[in-house]
Amino acid sequence: MNIEIIVGDITALDVDAIVNAANSTLLGGGGVDGAIHRAAGPRLLEACEALPELSPGMRCPTGEARITAGFDLGARYVIHTVGPIWLGGGSGEPEQLASCYRNSMTLAAEYDLASIAFPAISCGVYGYPPKRAARVALRSLLDSPQGGPSKVLVCCFGQDMGAIWREALSDAS
Ligand code: ADP
Repeated sequence: MNIEIIVGDITALDVDAIVNAANSTLLGGGGVDGAIHRAAGPRLLEACEALPELSPGMRCPTGEARITAGFDLGARYVIHTVGPIWLGGGSGEPEQLASCYRNSMTLAAEYDLASIAFPAISCGVYGYPPKRAARVALRSLLDSPQGGPSKVLVCCFGQDMGAIWREALSDAS
């Protein structure tokens, strides 16, 4: 498996799946979630609405992942995962963040996808410190079982985030 850190807009990537840092309603929001819904078009929201609710309004618990088509995106699929809100690090945030990456990779393997791109899950409004998030995320990706996508991109929004993830990758591998 090859992990590469890139800087750019995840909605523009030509990969089998892009990962969305969603919230548990899966009905869209700000940040990368809003950008993905805008670029995928209204059918993405319809597909998300059609996913089963586990309790009223709740379609995906923190740390889990769901898959839909990519509709108007270049990507064939969107894998929606819900990152943890940073509460200081002692409330299971690292384990939940690792689960986001692991469960997204598992879904990608089930769908036989060769390439996947992740955003920096939880590093926006959810407030996860980027250096810590990068360390947890890359460890989870490097530990993911064989048979998943051979090409894994982490698409950072801005050069500063890219530099943090590049350094974490060189520390981890
Ligand atoms: P979360 O709620 O999980 O923190 P956000 O969308 O607020 O999700 O932020 C996650 C990361 O995605 C942040 O680093 C943010 O800068 C980044 N981001 C926002 N828009 C895009 C985009 N179009 N492509 C890639 N990354 C993006």
